[in-house]
Parts: sequence; structure tokens; C-alpha cells
Amino acid sequence: MFKVILKLLLCDGFLGDVQKIKFCQWCGGTTKHDIPDGEERLRAICTTCGKIAYQNPKMVVGCLIEHDNKVLLCKRKIEPSYGLWTLPAGYLEIGESAMEGAIRETREEANADVEVISPFVQLDIPLIGQTYIIFLAKLKKPHFSPGPESSECKLFSLDEIPFSSLSFSSMVVTLNLYVEDMKAGRKPKFHYGTINKRPGTSPSDIDAFTLEDHMQS
Ligand SMILES: [Zn+2]
Repeated sequence: MFKVILKLLLCDGFLGDVQKIKFCQWCGGTTKHDIPDGEERLRAICTTCGKIAYQNPKMVVGCLIEHDNKVLLCKRKIEPSYGLWTLPAGYLEIGESAMEGAIRETREEANADVEVISPFVQLDIPLIGQTYIIFLAKLKKPHFSPGPESSECKLFSLDEIPFSSLSFSSMVVTLNLYVEDMKAGRKPKFHYGTINKRPGTSPSDIDAFTLEDHMQS
């Protein structure tokens, strides 16, 4: 009975993701979806070898590059959010630190070599299982150009940032916090916050969220 109640309480999004796992990644056997003994969450469990496919949040890392009182943005040439502006960022790979990943993503998306100055923001998005870490960085040389995933890379002054054409809520929050810090005439702080997206909304619906638990150093 306890398990049944738990299943009913789980949110649709999470349930849907677990149920997408139909086959075992180790032996190829079919999975069943159940709550393992001693646990509280629905998991995909292999009916052949018994292994459990645990799913955990992914980390996205990137750079907010300052240059001549402007910030560097890239226009996405890939889905999702094709044609919208983003900070250079992407999934952290196994074997690299968050800082190394942010530098690599910047090289890939903007052909830019950067030096990291400091961590700027950590944003958790629980509903979709993502955590963003964005670093402040500066160009080692004043060169950048679009990489394969970008159609354009451009420096924007604070007043020119295209807030209505940004790719993700994480980018809206990051750039808003940065503009607030700069316009207050202070050195950028380190921020933490949680982006709570409304269930069922598109990643590109940049107004469909609230920022909660905002803390700053
Ligand atoms: Zn298996």
C-alpha cells in the first residue's frame, strides 16, 4: 500500500522519464518500473539481471565573458531554442572539472580562449534535473567566432542584452543577476538559486518560472 501511495504522489514528469527506460543498459533485458525495497522513488529495474537504472541530475557549465563592459553571447544553431541567444555552455563531461568544462564549451561554441575569473552562479532546476554553474571569465585574446553550434557570436553592452530572445530561463536569471550587480556598481557576487519551472512548459518559454532560495555572497 505504501508503494502504491508513493507512486501516486510522484510527479508526472519524473514518472515519465523513468518509464522511458524500456531496456537495461547493461544486459539489454526489459525493465519493470517499481520502487525498490528500502527506497522511495520509482526506478527502472532490469527483469533479467536486476540492476537498477538510477537517474541523477546533469550539470551544465558555461562562461559569462566580460570584455570592454560587454558580455559575449552566442546565437544557437541547434535545437532546442534554435535562433535564440545563450551564454556559451553545455553538459559537463566525465573526467573534467566544472571550470574545465566551461572553458571547453566556450572554445567549442565561440572559438574563444578564456581565463576564468570566479564562479558567478549556481542554479538548480529540479523539475528537469539540471544544475547550471556559470563562471565569470575574460578573453585571453580579443578573438571569437561562431563554432559549429552557433550561427553568430556577439558582444552586448548591458543595455543591449536581448532579454526577450534568450534561450533558457537559466540564461535569463544569470544575465539579470549580472546586470543587477553591475548596475549597483559592485563587483559581481556569487549567487545560488533554484529555478522552479511550471510543469509542462517548454524550455524556451523563458517566463514560465520563479527564482527561489536566492542567496548571494
Ligand atoms: Zn539487465
